[in-house]
Amino acid sequence: MITDQHGRNVNYMRISITDRCNLRCFYCRPCESFHNIPHQDLLRYEELLALMKMARNLGVEKIRLTGGEPMVRKDFSQFLQRVHQELPQLDLRLTTNATLLNGQAPLLAQIGLDKINISLDTLRRGKYELITGRDRFVQVRRAIDQCLDHGIAVKVNVVALKGVNDEEMPEFMAFARNLPVDLRFIEFMPIGRDSAWAKQYFWPAGDILRQARDHADLTPFVPDPETHTHGPAQLYTIQGGLGRLGIISPLSNHFCGTCNRLRITSHGSLRTCLFSDKEYRFRAMLRHPKLGIRAVERLFRLAGEAKPVGYVLLKEMARQRPVCHTAMSAIGG
Ligand code: SAM
Repeated sequence: MITDQHGRNVNYMRISITDRCNLRCFYCRPCESFHNIPHQDLLRYEELLALMKMARNLGVEKIRLTGGEPMVRKDFSQFLQRVHQELPQLDLRLTTNATLLNGQAPLLAQIGLDKINISLDTLRRGKYELITGRDRFVQVRRAIDQCLDHGIAVKVNVVALKGVNDEEMPEFMAFARNLPVDLRFIEFMPIGRDSAWAKQYFWPAGDILRQARDHADLTPFVPDPETHTHGPAQLYTIQGGLGRLGIISPLSNHFCGTCNRLRITSHGSLRTCLFSDKEYRFRAMLRHPKLGIRAVERLFRLAGEAKPVGYVLLKEMARQRPVCHTAMSAIGG
C-alpha cells in the first residue's frame, strides 16, 4: 500500500493506453495536425500488463483504461481478455467516447467489466458533430443502451461548457430521469498547452446545480463510506427518476485532499497530479535489461509517497494560463 506524505492512500491508477483519438473535441484535442506520439514510444500491451501487475503489488485496487480513445488501439478487446485472464480479481474500468463500442458490451460483461464511463457532452446530434468534429452521436447513444442491456453500470460524463451545452439542462435532466445512469457534469479544466479553456466557457458547479434544480427535485446522495466508489462526484438522486445527477468540480471545489490517483501517460510517464507537469519517465527504465519492472516499482513507490496537493498549482489558473502543458489526450483525463 502507498500512503503519501499527506496521509492519502494511493490506490487508484488511470492508464492512458494511447494518445490517438477518433474524435476532435475542440476543448481536448483541437486540430487535425496534432502530432501523435510515435508508435515505438507508446507502452506495449506486454508492458502495460506488467505495470498493472506491479500496481497490484503496490496496493492499487482499481485501474481505469483511458486515452486518447482506448478503443482505437489495435487488438484492444484481446488485451482486455488477457488482463482478465491474468488479473481476474482486478477492479478494471474503462473511459471511452463509445463511438466504437457497438457490439462490444457482451464481451465487457463477460470479462466482468461491469462499470463504464462514457463521454457525451450533448444530447443533440448536430451539436455533437460541432463539438467533436464527427457525426457519431447515434452510435454513442446506442452504445449506452447496449451497456445498460448487459447490466453494465454507466456513468455519462459531460464536460460542462457554458454557451455550448448549458442550454440543454432540461434534456439532460430528462435523460437522467429516464435512464438508470449517473449523469455527471465535469467542470472544464485548463489542461494542455493549447487548451481552449477560456472564462467564457466556464460553467461552475454552483450554477450547474442551480440550473438542474429548475428541472428536477434533487436530494444529495450520501454514499456509504465503506463501499464508496463514486470518486469525486457530488451525487444527487432525482425524485421519480431512474438515474442520478453528479457534479465534479475540480476548480471551484477541488478534491485534492482525497485524491488517490496515479496517472500513466501513453508515452510511459507517471504523473502524480493532474495539475502538475512533473512527470516521472519510466519507459526507458522498464525497457532496460538490467533495471526493468523492479526499478519501476521503486520509482512508483517513491513518487506516490511524494504526491503533491494540486490546488497550489491551480493558482496558475487565476493568471489565465493552462495548469499543465501536456495534452489531455496523452494524460487520459
Ligand atoms: N476518449 C475517452 C473519452 O472520451 O472518454 C477517454 C479520454 S478523454 C481525455 C477523458 C475525459 O476527459 C472525457 O470525458 C473528456 O471529455 C474529458 N476532458 C478532456 N479535456 C477536458 C478538460 N479540459 N476539462 C475537463 N474534462 C476534459
